[in-house]
Amino acid sequence: MKIDAIVLAGGRGVRMGSRTPKQYIDIKGKPMLYYSLAAFEESFVDNVILVCNEGEEDHCRKEIVIKYGLNKVNKIVSGGKERFDSVYNGIMASSGCDYIYIHDGARPLVSQYILDRCQHYVEKYRAAVAAHPAKDTIKIADENRFISSTPDRDKVWIMETPQVFEYGLARSAYEKLMASRNRLKEAGVNVTDDTMVIKMFEDVDSYLVENPYCNIKVTKPDDLIIAEALM
Ligand code: C5P
Repeated sequence: MKIDAIVLAGGRGVRMGSRTPKQYIDIKGKPMLYYSLAAFEESFVDNVILVCNEGEEDHCRKEIVIKYGLNKVNKIVSGGKERFDSVYNGIMASSGCDYIYIHDGARPLVSQYILDRCQHYVEKYRAAVAAHPAKDTIKIADENRFISSTPDRDKVWIMETPQVFEYGLARSAYEKLMASRNRLKEAGVNVTDDTMVIKMFEDVDSYLVENPYCNIKVTKPDDLIIAEALM
């Protein structure tokens, strides 16, 4: 069985308000991106495809991959404008595998536990995603920021990464997404995770793999303090 992982490190991380793109910000003496690459290095995954911003490939190779001896990173490719463009480039850079992990480099706390559990469920259900049940009540807002509805909290889950799929399934779904991106844009569809692409284009439901450990996405300055404390 062959397993690839795409680690996403594109985008500017505008909400972080830092001049350094957030994926390179230092956490405990190492760039944030190092931690998720190191988790895959330690795991059963065979190859890692690192997706970064155009022009940052050399920096990633020298300052992260070579410097920390991350031997499983065998491709570094440039991403695109949106997260889904970066995922697509990563999928196309794979030379083919049975399963593909898609992981946000901005989640440095990914554990061996969740990688193992996702593998177990993707083999069973074709599509599996790390997630946790919502603790807070979630509201849906209208365009004027008034509450329009309240989903049943028992059914609300917060998505994380990795999101893991059979490779052929992910590739086919993303090829269809890219072919219809203009139509989706016109319809105002905002593609924010991979499970929605798999559902939309292949009609496959992803299994929610409960992650009891904190796997936050570092988005705002406060998250850095939390991530550092959790490490
Ligand atoms: O912006 P956000 O925090 O939602 O990004 C999630 C992940 O996707 C991050 O790891 C970021 O580096 C990556 N990303 C990307 N290409 C983009 C936008 C985001 O690889 N165009």
